[in-house]
Amino acid sequence: MSVSIKSPKEIELMRESCRLLAIVHDEVRKIVRPGITTKDLDRKASEVIRDLHGTPNFLHLYGFPATICASVNEHVVHGIPSDKTVLKEGDIIGIDMGLIWQGYHSDAARTYGVGEISKEDRMLIEVTKQSFFEGVKFAKAGNHLYDISSAIQNYAESFGYGVVRDMVGHGIGKALHEDPEVPNFKLPGKGIRLQAGMTLAIEPMINAGTWQVEIDGWKCVTADGRKSAHYENTILITDGEPEILTLYRDGREV
Ligand code: MG
Repeated sequence: MSVSIKSPKEIELMRESCRLLAIVHDEVRKIVRPGITTKDLDRKASEVIRDLHGTPNFLHLYGFPATICASVNEHVVHGIPSDKTVLKEGDIIGIDMGLIWQGYHSDAARTYGVGEISKEDRMLIEVTKQSFFEGVKFAKAGNHLYDISSAIQNYAESFGYGVVRDMVGHGIGKALHEDPEVPNFKLPGKGIRLQAGMTLAIEPMINAGTWQVEIDGWKCVTADGRKSAHYENTILITDGEPEILTLYRDGREV
């Protein structure tokens, strides 16, 4: 396993790639509403990325056919946008996407409610998001990678939720998926020691019920049919507090 340490110049490029991605997420979020299709969201993302002179990085990666992953309700991740998938009031939708800017990748995911959603679903979305921030508290030089993983797992499971095991976060930089893998659950050992200049995509995928999923090609759904949420940012390890690169500089959510 080789984990890349980014130079100051590379970090600047990562920051810009991630800043642009935050803009794209913001633009797509604005059109999430009942009646719109996931293909409409994909078209919007594609248009904004190209307007910003970026390149979508999910498109054609491992054969994925779209710019965004749009995963509705029991779909955990990797949902393929479709003209037939019409969002309706009460749905939740996970939107995962990234872009390349001057050779550097960014990656972030958000889960939104469509119109009015239930209190339970709002809670699932909020806890998933907060589990990311619980993990990020440990994303500091000198700590170990699985400190992040354990914090995410402990927080999510304290609400009775299931932490998906089949997919994990990852290093990111010149490639979308670099070493190391960043699990959202504890593995034996401590994981690598974190160093300033590492850039990681941390992405809890949290299910309302069981952690188990059923996978068939791109299709990935919860085994019990209950809903699932996803939240992800690309972050930079520093000697002090981590920088969350795919949030706006003022820390504002997008
Ligand atoms: Mg990712």
